[in-house]
Amino acid sequence: MPDAPARWLLPALLLVAPAVLAEPAPAPSIVMRERWGGEEVEYPEALRHEPATVLLHHAGVAWRAGADPAASMRGLLRFSREEKGWPDVPYHFVVAPDGRIFEGRDLRYAPDTNTSFDPTGYVNVELLGNFEEQRVNATQLDAAVRVVAWLADRLEMPTADLATHAGVAPGQTSCPGADFLRYLDGGSFHAAVDAARAGEPVEIEVLPPLPDGPQAFAEAEEPAVPKRSAN
Ligand SMILES: [Zn+2]
Repeated sequence: MPDAPARWLLPALLLVAPAVLAEPAPAPSIVMRERWGGEEVEYPEALRHEPATVLLHHAGVAWRAGADPAASMRGLLRFSREEKGWPDVPYHFVVAPDGRIFEGRDLRYAPDTNTSFDPTGYVNVELLGNFEEQRVNATQLDAAVRVVAWLADRLEMPTADLATHAGVAPGQTSCPGADFLRYLDGGSFHAAVDAARAGEPVEIEVLPPLPDGPQAFAEAEEPAVPKRSAN
């Protein structure tokens, strides 16, 4: 049986091959819409677009520690459909303070917007929280880097093209909020996205509070209250 060793080797080679061929920015784990309770929706064909550029937002609503991001998604879907008359939530992906990433609008359809600019071609990524009033935490920043890196690879978008709501609708909004915007203006977010795209470890350092900026983080969980002893 001279060929037996080769047969034994083959499965081992197949096991290592996928790691060698892996994309630089792996797909992050995503909470799909059926898991957060989002019903199936239909989009008007007029919204069909070629997704090209990632556009960053914050929710603009302060995040309450311990709140359930899946419930926020369901509330946003209800608001979008019933109050705004939009077919779906306006964001393609939503990043929660606990680092979970939620699936929103189908990438093949352009977003809707409350502001005046042409949203065609944009892929909306929203971070839950209000970063005019709260600081973005390390877990949420890290998840935002990963989803943006993965999208940028899929869209073949140069990291430098990363857009912000205030950038595309100047004078109309402070979105995505001063505390988050400084990571983009300062370049550390782009550097972390580039690292993720190159398959390197993602390290994004949380900055100290802005002068006159918010002090408290948007926290995923309520701080544990020490239980009072019975005696
Ligand atoms: Zn926005």
